[in-house]
Amino acid sequence: MTIDLISDTVTRPTKEMLDAMLNAKVGDDVFKMDPTVNELQEKAAKLFDMEDALFFPSGTMANQTAIKLHTQPGDKLICDKYAHVYNYEGGGAAFNAGVTCKLIDGNRGMFTAEQLQEAVAGRSDIHVPFSRLVCIENTTNKGGGACWDFAELEKLQKISKNNNLTFHLDGARLFNALVAKNETPKQYGALFDTISICLSKGLGAPIGSILLGSKEHIAKALRIRKLFGGAMRQVGFLAAAGMYALDNHVERLAEDHQKAKGIGAVLESVSYVTKVEPIETNIIIFYVDKSIGDTNFINKMAAKNILLTPMGEGKIRIVTHLDYTDNMHEVLLKELKNYQK
Ligand SMILES: *Cc1c(COP(=O)(O)O)cnc(C)c1O
Repeated sequence: MTIDLISDTVTRPTKEMLDAMLNAKVGDDVFKMDPTVNELQEKAAKLFDMEDALFFPSGTMANQTAIKLHTQPGDKLICDKYAHVYNYEGGGAAFNAGVTCKLIDGNRGMFTAEQLQEAVAGRSDIHVPFSRLVCIENTTNKGGGACWDFAELEKLQKISKNNNLTFHLDGARLFNALVAKNETPKQYGALFDTISICLSKGLGAPIGSILLGSKEHIAKALRIRKLFGGAMRQVGFLAAAGMYALDNHVERLAEDHQKAKGIGAVLESVSYVTKVEPIETNIIIFYVDKSIGDTNFINKMAAKNILLTPMGEGKIRIVTHLDYTDNMHEVLLKELKNYQK
């Protein structure tokens, strides 16, 4: 048995999800004639109470499309220094949209209204790249699954609006935040100009993301997705997995969160762990004693078929997910308690 905790993207479709995929009605989605894709997009738009939605093969492509549609080359976007759009999308903001990123030095991937105000203040003459876009990430990935305070997001939205900045949410793990904080998709739909969500993370679909926005934004996104090579044909087989995930795999995220807290409690109790970051959702970030070292610890665990991820600066990441069973949880807790240098 391998206990794979490198990410919540490692899940396989369940039997029920596979059945839904096999039974999907499909058509050519480039001609907008795939009924399952159309249904998924309508369902998602309705869920968030936004005008329109578009299915994407990946979260990266959905975010990159949003960045491209909100900006012109030479502009800048504002995000946290930990942001996925800056750190983990291959430099796509520069490559695809020709924009630079102004990084805010936030806390666990989150910044305050004061910090955004500071970032947008100052000169706006010909020397300075125009600020066009603010990107928020909820939950934060590199920040260890942290959830933003909604009241702070409302303040950030006001500042964005007052400064003619569009407001994009990288919601790859938004459903984890919604479940953890008891919030609704509609609250977020009312706040952001565009939102990307991933179906292939905690929700357990094999592939797929959705970009949500106004009719005007999604019409632009449709063209940009084509330009990026993301227009697909009988993709309803995959949209069916996404639909199944939205219907069946949202509320159960609470189980992943509970297991993550259980792992955190054990890590707090063992002497070789020097720090555990606060655990709000399904991501655990912790540090082991320097005499052990993160790489060595990860290798030793891998030898026991327990797979963890190094996140740099000594950080070790564990992510719980749909395929992480109760039995695996017991084995992991025992191995963590009994770990010997
Ligand atoms: C995973 C992730 C994405 C997109 O990932 P893909 O692998 O391209 O689907 C975007 N943002 C965050 C915060 C993520 O964790």
